[in-house]
Amino acid sequence: MSQLPARDRTAELKAIQERSVPRGLKPAFDFVADRASGSQLWTLEGTSYVDFMGGIGVLNVGHGHPKVLAAAHAQLDRLVHTSAQVAICEPYLRLAERICERAPGEFAKKAILFSTGAEAVENTVKIARAATGRPGIIAFTQAFHGRTLLGMSLTDAMHPYKAGFGPFAPEIYRAPFPYQYWGWDSERALAELEELVRTTIPADQVAAILIEPVVGEGGFVPAPYEFLRGLRALADRRGMLLIADEVQSGIGRTGKFFAIEHSGVVPDLIALAKSIGGGFPLSAVVGRAEVMDAPEPGSLGSTYGGNPVACAAALAVLEVFEDEGLLARAGVLGSILEERMEEWQRRYRLVGDVRVLGAMAGLELVRNQETKEPASAETEQIIDGCRERGLLALRAGPHHNVIRTLMPLNIPEELLHQGLDILERELARVSDASG
Ligand code: PMP
Repeated sequence: MSQLPARDRTAELKAIQERSVPRGLKPAFDFVADRASGSQLWTLEGTSYVDFMGGIGVLNVGHGHPKVLAAAHAQLDRLVHTSAQVAICEPYLRLAERICERAPGEFAKKAILFSTGAEAVENTVKIARAATGRPGIIAFTQAFHGRTLLGMSLTDAMHPYKAGFGPFAPEIYRAPFPYQYWGWDSERALAELEELVRTTIPADQVAAILIEPVVGEGGFVPAPYEFLRGLRALADRRGMLLIADEVQSGIGRTGKFFAIEHSGVVPDLIALAKSIGGGFPLSAVVGRAEVMDAPEPGSLGSTYGGNPVACAAALAVLEVFEDEGLLARAGVLGSILEERMEEWQRRYRLVGDVRVLGAMAGLELVRNQETKEPASAETEQIIDGCRERGLLALRAGPHHNVIRTLMPLNIPEELLHQGLDILERELARVSDASG
């Protein structure tokens, strides 16, 4: 490693980035990350931040949890890789069993492991098609399902995810997501969906309906429970499967292990990723055993899927959830977030909508409460201001005007309030400046 002082090293590394990494990869922040612990992150130059982004929802147990690191270290010394297609290992099997136990539904389940969220989502589609013999997939407006060809095709937003990257995968049909703040209620969205399967694609050609129970990148919008129940009823009536993409909403973020559990609706397949691996690349598909067993032997897998070190870390993540009562803790965080954000809504004219499900909270900022014109530039100013004052937070939504919370669930209350105080100060500053 270079012996230069930190400031020069940062400049050197940024120059390497400019020369050697394409601009298509655009980090939200321009510092070089050096180390992290719990809910804090330090740059190469030693600046510390409260972390409300958790590696985009990957660190529900926090950065470098000692139990997770110890499990990974122990596994490193034992076995790093075989590829499950060649030889399966104990951590894979133990984890698959645990995931099946945690998934909702009073029926036999099976789980298969991969590395990324997009890979898990793609495999739900493969499995659903194999199980139904049908090609069509219904996805929703505002959906984000990944950056691979199929993930991108299932994703709604053109910018920045799809523009210039077509043609896209066929047999994907889009229905409106019931975004209540924008005037879409469940009844209207379900009526549109029924129309779609009457006029655009025959219901008997639809393999599955794919939904994020809480829309993530698309703006932190929980699907109304009656909508999820409507999807389940339609799927049952027409022989379709229901797939929940819990890549961002899963693993306890909302106070239940999977966000869809709040609604009582049981999906046939679930894609999970991010926080299950505690920072190691790990994803999974879990679902009804007979559906999961539809693809032929040898037709599923990937070289790194269910990597032993990632599986050992994930087993430790599940233990940490138990030890630290993190599902309940997500509910406690949610109450704090809701109280503070609702207070902000009363005080600051930029706050249009507050949406909180457990610790998955979104603050939608608008220029005008009537027209709901997105306050995109103001949101950027707030995020920039937060960064200057020591808080890292991320935006979401098609207009990038939603501030979202993805802090570790075991964040100390003092640090949580420290972060929220910074966010409030910036919200007040930008509200005043734009008023
Ligand atoms: N689905 C959802 C709901 C996501 O939020 C994401 C990532 N933000 C993905 C899929 C894709 O996951 P990955 O980036 O690990 O491929």
